[in-house]
Amino acid sequence: MINRERLADTFVELCETDSPSRHEGRMAQRLREIFAPLAPDEVFEDDSARTTGSESGNLFFRFAGALTAEPVFFNCHMDTVQPGTGVKVRRQGDLFTSTGETILGSDDKSGIAALIEAMRILRERDIPFRPVEYVFTTCEEIGLLGAKALDPAHIQARFGYALDSSGFGRVVIGAPAANRLRITVYGCAAHAGLHPEWGINAMILAARALAQTPDGRIDTESTVNFGIISGGVASNIVPEKVVLEGEVRSHSEEKLARLTSQIEHIFRATVDNWQDAGGQAKGRPGLDFVVEPDFPLMHLDSDSKVIREIRRAAESISLDLSLEVAGGGSDANIFNGYGLETAIIATGMTNVHSTSEQVELDDMVRLTELILALLTGRKKY
Ligand SMILES: [Zn+2]
Repeated sequence: MINRERLADTFVELCETDSPSRHEGRMAQRLREIFAPLAPDEVFEDDSARTTGSESGNLFFRFAGALTAEPVFFNCHMDTVQPGTGVKVRRQGDLFTSTGETILGSDDKSGIAALIEAMRILRERDIPFRPVEYVFTTCEEIGLLGAKALDPAHIQARFGYALDSSGFGRVVIGAPAANRLRITVYGCAAHAGLHPEWGINAMILAARALAQTPDGRIDTESTVNFGIISGGVASNIVPEKVVLEGEVRSHSEEKLARLTSQIEHIFRATVDNWQDAGGQAKGRPGLDFVVEPDFPLMHLDSDSKVIREIRRAAESISLDLSLEVAGGGSDANIFNGYGLETAIIATGMTNVHSTSEQVELDDMVRLTELILALLTGRKKY
């Protein structure tokens, strides 16, 4: 059914078209060329590049299809993490890896290759299919920037699938919401040897607060991490400013809010309770506590339309699916936040974001069959 070698060739070509985040220009151009002979009813690039700083906007291909059925969309991201420059694919049998110096890029080009092969089959065999939109985003790996800058009015379908998860036969139906924290503690600068009593050490204050802050896995639904600390000028100067960057994630909106305010309370209390022991400090400490919602909660009911449809498609090709909850945020969080029910489907990629990333051709073939079953309602072609 599936043209395995054509799928393999497409996958290799996509992987070897470098597309680290913000440098998706060549990939976008190549996708336009690949899809042109497949006669999309509309090709559209949005203006998100102005916001994301990418070489390309998000890229949309719409296919009207001849079946009367509810439209569906598929999403993959065009960008990859680093090291992703100069990717060369090594194929051993049906296993694809990089040569070891770079990532492979199966995250997320395994999904893109399957979408291309599915449309090629539909077109060359003239098989009727439901209306479908392919939505290729930019800058997913650096904070879901393309999806965040996307206007959901550009997507006509009300539900869809992000082909963007490792392993195979997995459907991700839940992912946490996250807040980013940027905390600035202000002290007072002074010469550390001559007039230390004039100063207020922002670093010490930050450390006191941080030592009381919950950290790591808080409960089955929530995590907290501080990842960056910066500040200070020299060892002989009492530091007047320290910036801490961290995040809170939870599968519960309520816990996310509670943990975030708990951390804020710890920092505020630490700064407020500071006392000028010698009575000579040239000021008072201060605090900026900035919370930036990073991505919204993703939670799909197992009997929602998006899950029912993919289950039916999987059953028709005798594929077992497991429904799972993940710990990461991805474009699907953003789409769900827009009110577009979006499940994440594993593509077969493994060891992603590392130089030992790999994918099996068989899994991409099965993924293509799953896409075809969803688009056509058929088992055989
Ligand atoms: Zn990905």
